[in-house]
Amino acid sequence: MPLIVQKFGGTSVADSQKILAAARKAIRAQQQGNQVVMVVSAMGKNTDLLVDLAGQITDRPSAREMDMLLSTGEQVSVALMAMAIHSLGHEAVSLTGAQIGIRTDSSHTKARIKSISTERMQRLLDEGNIVIAAGFQGIDEDFNITTLGRGGSDTTAVALAAVLQANACEIYTDVDGVYTTDPRILPEARRVTRISYDEMLELASLGAGVMYNRSIEFAKKFGVPIHVRSSLSDAPGTTIVAQAESDNQAVCGAALMKDEARISVLGVPDKPGSSLEIFSRIAARNISVDMIVQNVGADGKADLSFTVPKNELRAALEAVQDATNSLGADEVIHDDCVAKVSAVGLGMAKQTGVADKMFRALAAAGVNIQMITTSEIKISVLVDREQAQQALRAVHQSFELDKEPELAGAAEDEAVSRALDAAAVVAHLRGVDMEELAIDDISLDESQARISINGVPDTPGVAAKVFDEVAAAGIFVDMIIQSYTGNAGQASLTFTVPKEKLDDSVAVANRLAATFKCQSVTSSPDIAKLSVSGVGLRSHTGVAIRSFTAFSKAGINVEMINTSEVRVNVVVDGREGARALAQLNDAFSDVLR
Ligand code: ADP
Ligand code: ASP
Ligand code: MG
Repeated sequence: MPLIVQKFGGTSVADSQKILAAARKAIRAQQQGNQVVMVVSAMGKNTDLLVDLAGQITDRPSAREMDMLLSTGEQVSVALMAMAIHSLGHEAVSLTGAQIGIRTDSSHTKARIKSISTERMQRLLDEGNIVIAAGFQGIDEDFNITTLGRGGSDTTAVALAAVLQANACEIYTDVDGVYTTDPRILPEARRVTRISYDEMLELASLGAGVMYNRSIEFAKKFGVPIHVRSSLSDAPGTTIVAQAESDNQAVCGAALMKDEARISVLGVPDKPGSSLEIFSRIAARNISVDMIVQNVGADGKADLSFTVPKNELRAALEAVQDATNSLGADEVIHDDCVAKVSAVGLGMAKQTGVADKMFRALAAAGVNIQMITTSEIKISVLVDREQAQQALRAVHQSFELDKEPELAGAAEDEAVSRALDAAAVVAHLRGVDMEELAIDDISLDESQARISINGVPDTPGVAAKVFDEVAAAGIFVDMIIQSYTGNAGQASLTFTVPKEKLDDSVAVANRLAATFKCQSVTSSPDIAKLSVSGVGLRSHTGVAIRSFTAFSKAGINVEMINTSEVRVNVVVDGREGARALAQLNDAFSDVLR
């Protein structure tokens, strides 16, 4: 019999009427001949209320007790949902995470799923029950209750769909699908009919709160097709599968992280191991870092900037302080009034001028870019929080995201891809942790060269002008990094180009440096770019750390780094390429598949 997982988010179970409506949807699916597993979130804003309550007692609640507290929200919902189904004349049993056998590690409030046992659920389903699973929770080895991170009911749903080899995983929420950006911020956003795992993963991690990023890692790893739809209507919704919506669109969506903070460590000794010292201390506190930018400065010192979620600023600063106490650094500064705006799309890897278009739109809107980082499928900029919405709108408009793109050919038959994936799923679940790190590939690219323009004026329009001219010269730019230098009013812009275009690029850079009265243009014809690809690299903070550790041990200095959900790229001196590759292969040998 086909099996379907239906997840209902907080707003979809916010009151008794909504709970009854959700119950009816599940009953209908059962009557259509499916076995049904419901995954339910805490009612309405209950989790927020619980967080707030804890905050009234202490500003440093123990993580274990936080999990004990937060998990109660879902327990209320599943019981009420079971009662609702009973009242409508059907059989249902509610289960907590522990009762389902969702085993996790012990990282309270951010736990990762290790395994799920299906026997009990399967038996209850076979007896004709609708199984109602509490989202967001599990237990560790010592039976402590854990939670999976805010928004984690999505993870429960997709993980259950994976282990039960469900035919569908439906996510019911208060919007009727995934939009090109949050429709509550930009009403002109368009619902997409289909989006690829990689794009959704990236968007979710960059602020699109409609899906929790870690649930998409699961979906991608186990080939679970997701269907996001409205709990209030039968509108068609959005499918999240391997294939993108369109083949010839550079950007599929834009996202905003409003509450970011930037930390800059100025005057760090520029030697192997410095970054490692800083990031390993931050990772030890389970804080995820983004937009890492390093700027090689004068006299053997570098400036390192990165962003963290604003609510983790304090903990991150403590970690940095610990690191700089042992490393030495001139100064640590921070800014908690910044926001990150990103454009995401699989298509940007194949087109020139994408970054340029985004920077031009921001300049036209009068938005100053404080930092830039890119990866194969995303471009992120850091801007003043006051200009965040304006910036998001400019980006959305410039890529015409409100317009229907030309659809790609019919998506590959999902049933076929599911069947193919089933074997992989089973193989995967045997003896390994479900959320364990999986690396697909480690590669070395020696085809690129690096250019830096130092002392660029920190005013709107400069990046646009630079990449306009570079694109006009027919040069395909790969990595772009704009860093914060700590010198008021100045930034530095570094990018990589194909080796054979280096001379042309330097000519363009020199011309622009003269126009903008920049300090200097430096370049390196010989760089090596190492890439580690897999699933969920950013949420596994360990990936960057492992790479840094490997390089540090071998005395290899990291010149540039960029990270995305699916890839970590590191640039080192061209002469070190082969050695760096060997180091990485060694460092990741246990998780390379
Ligand atoms: P649930 O409680 O059902 O899990 P969430 O609040 O977590 O619901 O997610 C739904 C919300 O996500 C929407 O109300 C919307 O404001 C927000 N959102 C952010 N980005 C997007 C996007 N790209 N598409 C759709 N909704 C988005
Ligand atoms: N109730 C939890 C939260 O609000 C989990 C979820 O809704 O997905 O984060
Ligand atoms: Mg959610």
